Amino acid sequence: MSDFKLADRLSTLPPYLFAAIDKAKKEVAATGLDIISLGIGDPDLATPEFIIDALYKAAKNPVNHQYPSYVGMLTYRQAVADWYKQRFDVDLDAATEVVSLIGSKEGIAHFPLAFVNPGDLVLVATPNYPVYGVATEFAGGTVEYLPLLEENDFLIDLDAVSNDTWAKAKMIFICYPNNPTAATATKEFYDRLIEKAKEFNVIVVSDAAYTEIYYDVNNKPISILECEGSKDVCIEFHSLSKTYNMTGWRIGMAVGNRDLIAGLGKIKENVDSGIFQAVQEAGIAALRDGEPYAEKFRGIYKERRDVVSTALTKIGIKHRVPDAAFYMWCNTPEGNTSSEFVTNVLKQTGVVLTPGNGFGTPGEGYFRISLTVNNDLLEEAVSRISKL
Ligand SMILES: *Cc1c(COP(=O)(O)O)cnc(C)c1O
Repeated sequence: MSDFKLADRLSTLPPYLFAAIDKAKKEVAATGLDIISLGIGDPDLATPEFIIDALYKAAKNPVNHQYPSYVGMLTYRQAVADWYKQRFDVDLDAATEVVSLIGSKEGIAHFPLAFVNPGDLVLVATPNYPVYGVATEFAGGTVEYLPLLEENDFLIDLDAVSNDTWAKAKMIFICYPNNPTAATATKEFYDRLIEKAKEFNVIVVSDAAYTEIYYDVNNKPISILECEGSKDVCIEFHSLSKTYNMTGWRIGMAVGNRDLIAGLGKIKENVDSGIFQAVQEAGIAALRDGEPYAEKFRGIYKERRDVVSTALTKIGIKHRVPDAAFYMWCNTPEGNTSSEFVTNVLKQTGVVLTPGNGFGTPGEGYFRISLTVNNDLLEEAVSRISKL
């Protein structure tokens, strides 16, 4: 035992959502029940072979064994810019409007350090990926959560936010396609948000990790950078993790307003030394030639989505059929809180779900299913739940 007390910024943190679920899961597994985890959003499919080959080849070149550049190889940043042009018709200057990230989580977590002073107000749309709030608090900022409600298609009700709040806010975090609700944003919503942000000088942080997991080619998710004026106020975080099954590789990007990119770059310069260049070479290969594979993965998720949706409908569990992202956001059965339902299901069936309230108060009354296991397991999981 030591007398070292954790800093307040850590000791006041709520327990990390998935750590608590992990503990309950271990207890249930110890009783002999076999576990099916629909809890964590981590693709079960493998990274395409050609990306691994690109890594292998680049790893053998001693040029790649030294420190990489802080902001990323210009060729990687150019590949990001080319991909944004091709996918979203967004023009980006690779040298000033793109920075490489060691996974987008890294960038999101560091970004508030560049622009938030102690006491500054940061708006976070919730239910949400926990990093936005934690990163804000690490920077000394104060978080105000804006509820995402089903009646508004899980978009922020911009009119419900007072001018006083807008005037105090330094930054706002949004995420579409959304984790956990799987809702998508409309162009009208982004346009109105940009208008507000410009009026009140608020930085818009868009987390776009799921734009490539969609189910209708005629209704692809958009990037906020497609909207007029976005580059005045927006930074967008994106990642190769979900698109190409590369969560373990740690490679992502931030793009958008050059001052925001430069600010983030300055923080990174002081805390990390970039991504292994061989991984960046693999990332270039993925961005250039990965589309047919991404399409195949979308087909697999779509089949899973439909299997689960059919099964849930059969047992009377209300849910959204998502247009994007590999999550299903479901209503807990009448009379059950999120925690009660999820705990009960885990104990009796061994199926791990994520309680909606774990992502923030407005998630109460919901649970999340991740479509990151195969059809057989998904069917088995729903069948077990139906016997409750
Ligand atoms: C998975 C995820 C990310 C991306 O994480 P990486 O660090 O790029 O692997 C970002 N935001 C959300 C909401 C996610 O679910």
